[in-house]
Amino acid sequence: MPRSPPRRDDQSRQPVRDQHRRHCPHGTAALQVALQLAGVEAKDEVIIPALTFVATANAVHYLGAIPHFADSEDQTLGLDPAALRDWLSTTAERSGAGAGWRNRHTGRRLRALVPMHCFGHPCDLDALLAIAHDYQLALVEDAAESLGSRYHGRHTGTFGLLGTLSFNGNKTITTGGGGAILTDDMHLADHAKHLTTTAKRPHRWESIHGEIGYNYRMPNLNAALGCAQLEQLPDFLASKRCLAARYCDAFADSGLEQARLMQEPPGCKSNYWLQTLILDERVADQRDAILEVTNDAGLMTRPAWTLLHQLPPYRDCPRAPLPVAESLARRIINLPSSAGLA
Ligand SMILES: *Cc1c(COP(=O)(O)O)cnc(C)c1O
Repeated sequence: MPRSPPRRDDQSRQPVRDQHRRHCPHGTAALQVALQLAGVEAKDEVIIPALTFVATANAVHYLGAIPHFADSEDQTLGLDPAALRDWLSTTAERSGAGAGWRNRHTGRRLRALVPMHCFGHPCDLDALLAIAHDYQLALVEDAAESLGSRYHGRHTGTFGLLGTLSFNGNKTITTGGGGAILTDDMHLADHAKHLTTTAKRPHRWESIHGEIGYNYRMPNLNAALGCAQLEQLPDFLASKRCLAARYCDAFADSGLEQARLMQEPPGCKSNYWLQTLILDERVADQRDAILEVTNDAGLMTRPAWTLLHQLPPYRDCPRAPLPVAESLARRIINLPSSAGLA
């Protein structure tokens, strides 16, 4: 749930005001703590896309909560709000006055909704915020892939109650390993800092820890690297856009009609973290042959992640019908995407 009206935030060198950013040793830890701050407790269900990196589900699991998988949409590759609303209309029931909603099949509380901006393309945040509001779900954005991406001019990760970033080695900027929690709620920001630094109560010499915290500090060496990387962010983003345009030109010239390049959704500015080719359904069976030939030629093409409900640890989790995620997973080919290629 947004805590303030959308703000203009066009200083790309400083995506979020410093006092609202809390650093973590990696993006997964940031998401785990953000979910805890959002009120997720053991045995709660947290709605996440099936089409995401495994870290999204792992962060939920680390809290003893259960991922509940929802479908994605073609245009954004992120959570499909229409399908989710449909699903919840038959799956969610009120738990009692003011107590939120639960999954009528499992009896467990539905506590949070975690959209993920897939490959850096913002998902349909307005519609997802409306669902979060109607079903009393805390919205926490997994913006690990979308540093620099904007939805109607505002930076991804700043719409939910909390958002999280990753600075892993493969992300748009890196600190070697690292992550951050974003929020514009000062109390949550203070609590985030407290929890990620062993929950030590401020005192001149006593060490009193009032709750169980974590040693989730980002080491200073990594943070120093991050400061230097942040200065280069505008250049990285420009290079990624340039690369996206070059792929577009190349594919337009090739006359290829059985595939499309993923473009930023309307009203959005994507960071093009990964460049993505989406095959038409009729040629989906050729995906592996394409991966084979391109990798043999030294081009690092990759399929999308295995959908999370198909992974052994998450096979028995609750899930909505996932026809679009299942189709996308068969048809996505990620292309070489390094900013250096532009
Ligand atoms: C990279 C990533 C994370 C977190 O990654 P870390 O490696 O822990 O920094 C979380 N979610 C998604 C979708 C990611 O791509």
